[in-house]
Amino acid sequence: MKYLVANWKANKTVPEAISWFRQVSSIKNQVSRNLKIIIAVPLTILASLKKISLPFRLAAQNLSPFPSGPYTGEISAEMLKDLVDYVIVGHSERRRYFGETNEVVVKKVKMALQSKITPIVCLDEPYLQSQIHQLTHLPIHQFIFAYEPLSAIGSGKPDAPENAKRVADKIKKMTQQAAVLYGGSINSKNAKEFMFKANLDGFLVGSASLKAEEFIKIVQAV
Ligand code: PEP
Repeated sequence: MKYLVANWKANKTVPEAISWFRQVSSIKNQVSRNLKIIIAVPLTILASLKKISLPFRLAAQNLSPFPSGPYTGEISAEMLKDLVDYVIVGHSERRRYFGETNEVVVKKVKMALQSKITPIVCLDEPYLQSQIHQLTHLPIHQFIFAYEPLSAIGSGKPDAPENAKRVADKIKKMTQQAAVLYGGSINSKNAKEFMFKANLDGFLVGSASLKAEEFIKIVQAV
């Protein structure tokens, strides 16, 4: 199974999201059964998508480390469980701007698992080992991991595919062969060659997933 995860970050209004889904859904017959397309949309969009039948899986970009209760502004895993199958945890932007630590990531992963939501755990080399060690008591082989080198995110300068393969192999070894994706400046021009050279389980795509035409080309390349 290959995975293509789109991470929209803090972008798109509800009408923009619906228009994107209309355009991208038009290629559903071209998508192989072996490719799982997962769209990580902002929370404001999730509830409106519930009413539309989509050929894709949905993910949240974040969740609360706490259960439902008196945590103003937070969205618990229980609140998300009917809306998404996946959740991104530990993205470098959350670590950088919102103080998400390895410990917080563990709490969020546990919350996701209790609500049967599959975590997509983002990793970079400086904290890869320490983060995985804190997760090994959990059913880690069922998670999805994304190797996302900081220098490659949003920079237009992807990692060398050979290096991504080396790191992905390391993550696989430590996680009982969990699925490992690569994220960082993937677009329709480099996706095919990168996939071929790095032999990964898929991609997490940020900026290039925002335009429907570009995302369609990435789906076709993968
Ligand atoms: C990301 O933020 O997860 C990401 C991969 O971004 P980009 O594709 O824009 O580098």
